[in-house]
Amino acid sequence: MKRITWTIVAFCLLLAKPVAGQEAKPNSTLINNVQIFDGRNVIASSGAVRIEDDRIAQVSSTQLEPLLGEMVIDGKGRFLMPGLIDAHVHVSWAFPFSKADQANESYVTAGAVANASAMLKRGFTTVRDTAGTDYGLAMAIDDGVVQGPRIIFTGRSISQTGGHADHRKINEKPSNSLIHGFGSTIADGEAEVIKAAREELRRGAYFIKIHAGGGVSSPTDPLHSVQYSFEEMQAAVQTAADRGTYVAAHAYTPESISRALNAGVKTIEHGNMIDKKTAELAARKGAFVVPNLITYWAMDKAPGMPPYIKAKNKTALDAMTDALKLLKEAGVKIAFGTDLIANMHPLQNQEFLLRTQAFTPLEILRQATSVNASLIALSGRNNPYGKLGVIEAGAVADIILIDGNPLENMTLMSKPETAFSLIMKDGKIVK
Ligand SMILES: [Zn+2]
Repeated sequence: MKRITWTIVAFCLLLAKPVAGQEAKPNSTLINNVQIFDGRNVIASSGAVRIEDDRIAQVSSTQLEPLLGEMVIDGKGRFLMPGLIDAHVHVSWAFPFSKADQANESYVTAGAVANASAMLKRGFTTVRDTAGTDYGLAMAIDDGVVQGPRIIFTGRSISQTGGHADHRKINEKPSNSLIHGFGSTIADGEAEVIKAAREELRRGAYFIKIHAGGGVSSPTDPLHSVQYSFEEMQAAVQTAADRGTYVAAHAYTPESISRALNAGVKTIEHGNMIDKKTAELAARKGAFVVPNLITYWAMDKAPGMPPYIKAKNKTALDAMTDALKLLKEAGVKIAFGTDLIANMHPLQNQEFLLRTQAFTPLEILRQATSVNASLIALSGRNNPYGKLGVIEAGAVADIILIDGNPLENMTLMSKPETAFSLIMKDGKIVK
């Protein structure tokens, strides 16, 4: 594929009629003759996008004349859109369940590196990691040591004793201090929550994640359990706000979601069992909800799951259809997330297909680009990357080219290996 792309590029360079006297910057690329979806709407049927270094320099609704020395790509009418953003991933949780007891740091990292590279090839140029990945992998990607999407990470999520991120079995001993496990810290009381949040912010976290209620993959907390008192949640929110950022909360039930929203939490992760009243509260608060359909679908099908996971997963899965309807009716900002773990990551792009049960193709593409970009912007000045998720002058040059129109055929989004003919991150072609 790479050879074909470069053959096209070389051929176009030969044919390009440069504009007399106007010389291109050294790292200037023109993508001509493309249908442009800018992250919000289709703005051109045969337009052009010019990239200089790592930024989009110009967007035109008509084709442009190449500058002298500019690399030109003939888009041949393909569909150009912003690089995809996944707002709920666990890049480092890529080891199989069967290895959970043996996975040490190097084993976890090896899997995370492979997983990051695969995510980028699926068209995801930015991901928001909601537990497990820290600055090390994010920095290695930024430095070009390994390939992957830029990672907006929380580091370790924060959970109460017996909460969703307390992975101890029922027969394990209690502890009197903070426990730092893989991807999580167990903290109880305002003082410990503040300390745990400050620790993640010290390690570069873009946002803080807490667990406000029961979850599927944890052994001792029922889904209906509400986790963290209002005061503990507020302590996390204040600590994040003092650093110019926000708190995300894992929450399923109306009780846990409404407590989190009232404490000032800005994003609700999952939200499967939300009711009408709570959806309306989320809309009034201007909060984002990040549903993830594919992970429940995949866990339902996965062989060898412990019975407690299977049962909780079924409850969460069955509630999702109603939740999406209520969120949409209430006018909540709905983000795009997948939440896959272990060996289920290759299903990431199937989220696009599952969402068609509740959303139009245009809504889904907006969720995975401009809506997710505005969620990531909640990190404010802590986010060094600039404008993401849109095709406009000055934005980061993350671009994908698709063979066909996903607004007419969402299946294309689920087949990145064949349907995505070009993936560009930071102005560099990665596929
Ligand atoms: Zn998650």
